[in-house]
Amino acid sequence: MEKREHLIKPMVGEQYPMISRAQNIYMWDQNGKKYIDGSSGAVTTSIGHSVKEVIDAMVEQASEVAFVYRSQFTSEAAEGLAEKISQLTPGDLNWSFFVNSGTEATETAMKMAIQHFQERGIHTKTKILSRKMSYHGITIGALSMSGHALRRKRFEPLLEDYPMVEAPYCKRCPYGLENPSCQMLCATDLERSILKLGAENVAAFIAEPIVGAAGAALTPPPGYYETIREICSKYDVLFIADEVMTGIGRTGEVFGINHWNVIPDIMVLGKGLAAGYSPIAATVASDRVMEPILKGSRIVMAGHTFSANPLSAKVALAVLNYVEKNRLVENSKTQGAKLKSTLMKWKEEYDFIFDVRGEGLMIGVELKEELFNEQSLTGRVLKIANEKGLLLYPSVSGPQGRSENSFLLSPPLVITDEQVEEILSILKDVFTQLQTETKG
Ligand code: PLP
Repeated sequence: MEKREHLIKPMVGEQYPMISRAQNIYMWDQNGKKYIDGSSGAVTTSIGHSVKEVIDAMVEQASEVAFVYRSQFTSEAAEGLAEKISQLTPGDLNWSFFVNSGTEATETAMKMAIQHFQERGIHTKTKILSRKMSYHGITIGALSMSGHALRRKRFEPLLEDYPMVEAPYCKRCPYGLENPSCQMLCATDLERSILKLGAENVAAFIAEPIVGAAGAALTPPPGYYETIREICSKYDVLFIADEVMTGIGRTGEVFGINHWNVIPDIMVLGKGLAAGYSPIAATVASDRVMEPILKGSRIVMAGHTFSANPLSAKVALAVLNYVEKNRLVENSKTQGAKLKSTLMKWKEEYDFIFDVRGEGLMIGVELKEELFNEQSLTGRVLKIANEKGLLLYPSVSGPQGRSENSFLLSPPLVITDEQVEEILSILKDVFTQLQTETKG
């Protein structure tokens, strides 16, 4: 008798390989097929799989105490992680609030921003501005801030009607202009949106320094965030950098925002923070943001049962130490540059490639999906790559933002020279096969 399904998988009824084990950048399914983790899962497993130091830290902490209720106890692990994050982050981003997912962390950032103004006696600043091509999470609050049409579609009636500013998408400029003569209208669009809503109503502007799921490593031009920072400061609007995907070395800098000369008021970390070894995310606020809260209610009203649990905190601390000890931020920069330069060359060879972009090991490839009408070219790339044992991450960045027309190549930051060659060799085969299919 056929075994019935009980697990709701991304596509119910579809066959998924059963994972058996994983080591470094490689994964094996139950049938022994080997895959290269070319996307770090969902851009998460940044130190690779089965790192002994992290497993040891996990076992050690679990043996001492895995869970405490944060209203009853603090722990050395959570205190140590918060201290470590404050050392890594720029400026006075000195306060961490721990949650379990990137979504919860962006939603906490939203609440913290609103609360910051409430504690100052300002009760009108409740709206959060974001960008058209963006993804900040899957709950109703986080989706309200996300310009990801595919994920919003079914829930539109429940979402807050926050206005969204244009994306800094030079290759498909929303104004049909060119940088620098455009005078970065996409950045100054923020000022127009704030004035339209009334600055007295806007608490924050949230953006991914380099866009992930809704833009395949879309990278704003130099000067963009400096302009954003200036506008936010001018109108007393907090700037939230959503570093869930870009944080902890992914882009060749410790944080994505470090590619610009800007310090956000709140930073959000997830994915790479514990690199998939345990669920944890952080909302990191500056001294300035926390000051009225510390002088006022002294409570950030956003706690979850599992917030700041010692097990996840200890794992994240071990991951951060591993990243530092093995100079993975630097490795992300050098190996990413190699991958990207080859892909840029291939853009001239394969006419279905529209754009290659990104920083470090967050590389986006956008395909000319519009050339192929109903056929999902990205779906095909992912499928052929999967057959050849390379895993990639789909992203949305087309003119309508409705279909997945691009993908991220974002392997673990531990990748070596030989492994870069291994990935390129498979990718070359994938593109060659696609070239034959699309021409045929
Ligand atoms: N923010 C960004 C930039 C993300 O890329 C994601 C997930 O892809 C999220 C927030 C949501 O994080 P999570 O899936 O951990 O809830």
